[in-house]
Amino acid sequence: MNPLTDFSKLCVHTMTTKPWDIDTAMDKYATAEIGGITVWRQWLDGQNISQIGDRLRQRNIDIVSLCRGGFFPAVDQTGIDQAIEDNKQAVREAAELGAPMVVLVCGAVPGQSLEQSRTQIADGIAAVLPLAEELNIKLAIEPLHPMYADDRSAINTMASANEVCDRLSHSLVGIALDVYHVWWDPDLPKQIELTADKERLFAFHICDWMTPTTDLLNDRGLMGEGCINIPEIRSMVERSGFQGFNEVEIFSNRWWNSDQDQFLDSIKEAYLKYS
Ligand code: ZN
Repeated sequence: MNPLTDFSKLCVHTMTTKPWDIDTAMDKYATAEIGGITVWRQWLDGQNISQIGDRLRQRNIDIVSLCRGGFFPAVDQTGIDQAIEDNKQAVREAAELGAPMVVLVCGAVPGQSLEQSRTQIADGIAAVLPLAEELNIKLAIEPLHPMYADDRSAINTMASANEVCDRLSHSLVGIALDVYHVWWDPDLPKQIELTADKERLFAFHICDWMTPTTDLLNDRGLMGEGCINIPEIRSMVERSGFQGFNEVEIFSNRWWNSDQDQFLDSIKEAYLKYS
């Protein structure tokens, strides 16, 4: 595995430095010589999206993706239609921003079978695909850890994400691998290879798993703070031919409550040491 020596392949999600608005984030990332950004849609609310894209490009920051679409499953047709419309909107926003990809947190409905939700997810993505094609935006299915299978995603493994990809069989539909969600999976090495062989490994997200985890959503660790062997997973991903960014995506009340400038320094240090 190649050691990381600079920050050209480091991408930070705006959610990671949640206290910073989009202008602050882009200035801080640029000063820190961070190569990429993944923009969460909340950061675009009320903003001129194409101008934000221009400002990022002026700062030589690559726009890696827009987060996030998905949440396709619903209990009735109105909900399903609304979800599809929202995902089309996300695709339009990505095009306006100049992001090549929308990351999908696919969704689930408590009480509805996961199978049913998976069908709705595949159908939902299929309904969004014509617009994605027109605007040339990739759709990356992010499998979520099974602890979120009740209400955030019925897609919980790489294998399950690959099944949806197989079903849709489209070059714009692929997978975002987040180590937080799939580090435990004994099939991971095989699934990474398979995903890469099918040219659908679209994104690679990193952070760490805290023991104990005190909040199911907002207690992720900085690389090196937890038990995930990130270098091992990164080497598998890179051996498979992936050349994209290493995206730092940390939801953490603990880190959000700290000084964000120091946090960004810690991210850079941990990135070189533990990724
Ligand atoms: Zn992620």
